[in-house]
Amino acid sequence: MIAQVIVDIAAKQTDRIFEYHVPDELADIEIGSRVYVPFGPRKLQGFVVGLTDSSEYKGELKDLLLVVDEMPPLTKELVQLSDDLSKDIFSYRISILKAMLPSVMRANYHKILQPADEQAANLPIFQGDPLDLNQAMDPKLAGQVRKLLANKQAKVEYIIENRAKSKTENQYELLVDKDEYIKIYNTLRQNAVKQKQLLMDVIENFDQYPKRQKQLEQDAQVNGATLTNAVKRGWLKKNEVEVYRDPLKDESNFVAKKIELNLQQQDALSKISQSILQTENKTFLLEGITGSGKTEVYLHAIARTLDFGKTALMLVPEISLTPQMVSQVKARFGQEVAVLHSGLSEGERYDEWRKIRQGKTKVVVGARSAIFAPLTNIGLIIIDEEHESSYKQETEPRYHARDVAIWRSNFNHCPLVLGSATPSLASRARAQKNVYQLLTLTQRANKKQLPQVNLIDLKQVQFAGSQFDLSVGLVEAIRNRLEKREQVILMLNRRGFANFMLCRECGFVLKCPNCDLSLTMHKDSQSMQCHYCGYTTQIPYRCPNCQSSQIRFLGTGTQKVQEELLELIPNARILRMDVDTTRRKGSYKKILDSFANHEADILLGTQMIAKGLDFPNVTLVGVVNADTGLWVPDYNSSERTFELLTQVSGRAGRAEKTGEVLIQTYNPEHYAIKLAQTQDYEQFYRYEMRVRHMGNYPPYFYTVLISIASKNEQVAAKEAFKIRRQLQGNLNKDTIILGPTPSAISRLKNQYYYQILVKYKKEDNLNKLLHQIQDDAQGVKKYGLNIYIDKEPERIL
Ligand code: ADP
Ligand code: ZN
Ligand code: ZN
Repeated sequence: MIAQVIVDIAAKQTDRIFEYHVPDELADIEIGSRVYVPFGPRKLQGFVVGLTDSSEYKGELKDLLLVVDEMPPLTKELVQLSDDLSKDIFSYRISILKAMLPSVMRANYHKILQPADEQAANLPIFQGDPLDLNQAMDPKLAGQVRKLLANKQAKVEYIIENRAKSKTENQYELLVDKDEYIKIYNTLRQNAVKQKQLLMDVIENFDQYPKRQKQLEQDAQVNGATLTNAVKRGWLKKNEVEVYRDPLKDESNFVAKKIELNLQQQDALSKISQSILQTENKTFLLEGITGSGKTEVYLHAIARTLDFGKTALMLVPEISLTPQMVSQVKARFGQEVAVLHSGLSEGERYDEWRKIRQGKTKVVVGARSAIFAPLTNIGLIIIDEEHESSYKQETEPRYHARDVAIWRSNFNHCPLVLGSATPSLASRARAQKNVYQLLTLTQRANKKQLPQVNLIDLKQVQFAGSQFDLSVGLVEAIRNRLEKREQVILMLNRRGFANFMLCRECGFVLKCPNCDLSLTMHKDSQSMQCHYCGYTTQIPYRCPNCQSSQIRFLGTGTQKVQEELLELIPNARILRMDVDTTRRKGSYKKILDSFANHEADILLGTQMIAKGLDFPNVTLVGVVNADTGLWVPDYNSSERTFELLTQVSGRAGRAEKTGEVLIQTYNPEHYAIKLAQTQDYEQFYRYEMRVRHMGNYPPYFYTVLISIASKNEQVAAKEAFKIRRQLQGNLNKDTIILGPTPSAISRLKNQYYYQILVKYKKEDNLNKLLHQIQDDAQGVKKYGLNIYIDKEPERIL
């Protein structure tokens, strides 16, 4: 047998299949297995992507060295997906294959070969210690390792966070039937108290076995010695079983609400259910205003899927949304649920992932990368808040989870549900053309009106304090709510204290030495920080340029607004939620739980508080500055502003009490802000489509962004012009090529960026051409040039 292997080096020369002969001991190898192979003078890891009986290759094939994991980490589906995706997104196949695994399973992690039992541990190869796998790859040793694995005398383990990972526990199994145990019991001496207790538990709770050691010790009131003795006498059999770290253990007390769907929800559900039962690979766009009960529709659809004997995969945007959503899913489906998101420790992630791979869960909830979950028998895929830009990965491999979801829905013949109050223009346009089926929920589930939204024109108002951040109107409204013991959500989409330091003598602005960005002052950590690369320095007291003490800190951030609020409303209890307060694992949940328990009056945060939160006692939502994203020079800045304002407005008045929203802005006439005030998505969609049409932007055109980066600005520019010429000669007349231009932030982490944007309607040759450009880039990489190709970029900055 011959194995086709993709090896673990991301480079053009190696991004293809290499063939190896499979030695007999490894005959149970499967597609999706991870292997060690000889590669030139090196030993590398790789993935088996195919198995054949014959090869075109004339020379003699080398032998595979080793199969790493007991169970192939990737399913056949995922292997095939990696192939199709690599053709579509300009990523090396190996990068995609690795992105499909939890981080602990990627190559650079330390792996050891652990003896399976004491007998094995005494073999010469171990000499009492586990073996470091990365150092065990000379052919002779590899042969031995292979045999050990084949005979189940050893297994491969990962070293995670300095402790051996998969946790195990002892479990005791019964060996004879109940009558036998009664007989044994009757033969015991009077003073064999502990043994009697143990056997009594066996007899009385015969059906509860096998039992875990802890449980058994507790139930029978015996200790380990009694159990060991019982094993020796042949009464019980001891097994080691894996225990999984359980990231959801805190959620298990959440009680599921019984809710009857309203007519609109029922209608949406019945259409989705029909697709589930008919195994149709159909995409639905569930457009429902905030609070219309989309979540309820998802949960019912998942239940139908499970009833139908299939599994369900559900994506939610990054973390901030997860606590409440995960609780709900967990409450309905209990132990069947696995979660995958970056808030978990690496060990927890690995455990969850393994549970899925071993087929022990039926529902997976997770953020972007969960779209690669090794779930099989999928009957439904859901993407909540489908418009979220976090579904697109901004680094290699640059995939969009929505596109991967469509692929998997085709592969599994199952429906895909995209849900949002403010669908992406691209998705809404597809629904318009009946590529997706549109389902709408137009009323709030609790029959409450959407909250009243009022704009506060910052050009015309009085400010409440000494700073120019909070208007009298907004502060009065906050005071008023606090008097009624109601709660307030305040959003300011900027963290830190002040955005920049300006010298009034010489005009100097303090910037990051690595990036073309000003440093942000952080009062709590007494530092100036670059929000891009993390560079940190002390807060200056004099101008670093002219030594003048006439320096000012301008702009605003969450820290400053918190300070101002405390000056204006001294008794207000404020929780701040931004990247700075949520770095530690579990801190999101802590802040949200505390706010839910009314231990604070005001939740002040960046856009991470805009979405998905459901607090019944929140009756006022304030937006400190609606304009932060409006003038970003990107084609979708209006869409993002509209979406953010609509989402955050939806946090108000979700229960009995009526809600109000106050939006502070310098641009009350801008259509994105005006239409967010009436929360009229459909009208925004029509207006914005016209704007996109006039500007030749998506969804009327497809886009590809080519970024060229180098430490040497001229080198980047020169290469960029070369690429432009290459494109120009080969593309259609109606295709638009913009640039090269320096990126809006022209220098990041000491690299200068130039970019070319290609806008096209139909280009049969483009994929090939771009692959060519990417391959050529491998050649110039040596000279410090990097080229990134991003299909349908979320940002063109
Ligand atoms: P969305 O995700 O569309 O913003 P949610 O699913 O969070 O909305 O629902 C908003 C609130 O309405 C939740 O508290 C939910 O429990 C409740 N809800 C949903 N459907 C119904 C229904 N049919 N009847 C009563 N309450 C409902
Ligand atoms: Zn100065
Ligand atoms: Zn920087």
